Amino acid sequence: MDQGQLDANLKGIRQLLSHLHGEVTALETSYSQVLQVLRKLEGDASTDDLSGLYRRRTFFDMWDSMLKECEKMNENCGMLLIDIDHFKIINDTHGHQTGDEVIQRVAGLVKQFETPRCFTGRYGGEEFAVAVKGTDAEILGLAEMMRRGVERLYGAVAGTDGKVQWKCTISIGMSSAAKDGFDSEKLIKAADEALYEAKRRGRNQVRAA
Ligand code: GH3
Ligand code: MG
Ligand code: MG
Repeated sequence: MDQGQLDANLKGIRQLLSHLHGEVTALETSYSQVLQVLRKLEGDASTDDLSGLYRRRTFFDMWDSMLKECEKMNENCGMLLIDIDHFKIINDTHGHQTGDEVIQRVAGLVKQFETPRCFTGRYGGEEFAVAVKGTDAEILGLAEMMRRGVERLYGAVAGTDGKVQWKCTISIGMSSAAKDGFDSEKLIKAADEALYEAKRRGRNQVRAA
């Protein structure tokens, strides 16, 4: 091969490489765009629109993982079930739109307490669940802070130009592995019974299983 042919071949190879580089960059861009869409879909699927909290299914998957991890590490964890008091009256008195706002505000407050050791989900309509690692005293302390925080919430009732305001309270039932073991079903049932007891004793309070 003479020098002329060699130069021509090298030029061809350079052109091919530069073309390939362009293709790879384009592929990388598409890949990262696809990834972005997937992440957003994943986020949408795992959180509830109205409250911004984890959906029930996601929450309980995470809760099962927390239970397994705590059992392995021999660390206590617990569950709080939260229910807005007399929420039906809030809906009936101030309207469904205000009811939705109350759910959003209570969820927002509860979410503020999220840490790597604590996460929250929407359990049902006006019910929330909190999974938390810590001692029984820490878990109860957290519940009490949430209860007091909600007591201080208020807002303008939709359509009244701020002349009418809503207020609300929550009741909380608490269960923990220290008492009921690392058994998901048992802990949920115990927290639910404690919540029922909090309601029965007059609402706006925290009860432990
Ligand atoms: P208690 O103190 O015993 O919990 O009484 P309550 O009125 O809060 O309980 P109840 O379960 O009777 O009422 C809950 C109401 O919550 C009934 C339902 O229509 C309403 N609800 C459920 N989901 C939503 C929602 O997403 N938005 C609104 N605005 N209301 C909801
Ligand atoms: Mg309820
Ligand atoms: Mg309620």
